[in-house]
Amino acid sequence: MNFVAVSAYLNYIDAHIAQAQLEDAHIRCWLKDEHTVTTNPMFTNAVGGIKLMVAEPQLGRAQELLQAIEAERRRHARCPLCAGGNIEWVHTPRKTANNVVSAALSYLFGNMALAPDKVQHCFDCGHEWDEI
Ligand SMILES: [Zn+2]
Repeated sequence: MNFVAVSAYLNYIDAHIAQAQLEDAHIRCWLKDEHTVTTNPMFTNAVGGIKLMVAEPQLGRAQELLQAIEAERRRHARCPLCAGGNIEWVHTPRKTANNVVSAALSYLFGNMALAPDKVQHCFDCGHEWDEI
């Protein structure tokens, strides 16, 4: 059976959550390059992240399911300041005081050290926060 990539992830936690959601819907899938990214995060961008591979005949259903899950997540997410629903995860510039530490952690751990730089941004009021 031929498998094709339906999505890619920067860390194994998000990849495993998506894989479990597809498996619950009886979609045959597996994670490509999971061990490469997990054991050496510096290769994450080089290999294109952890790819969620699905059986080609089930690709359309997998895409619909992942889009529905994302739509549901967006429907429930709210800004803690203005309660607006127009929010998204964005990358934010690093704080100056953390540049040396961030550079060292990025060298040692690759993208795993970059995770704190991704915050939720409200496009209604401009508020940013990093709580999940
Ligand atoms: Zn807001």
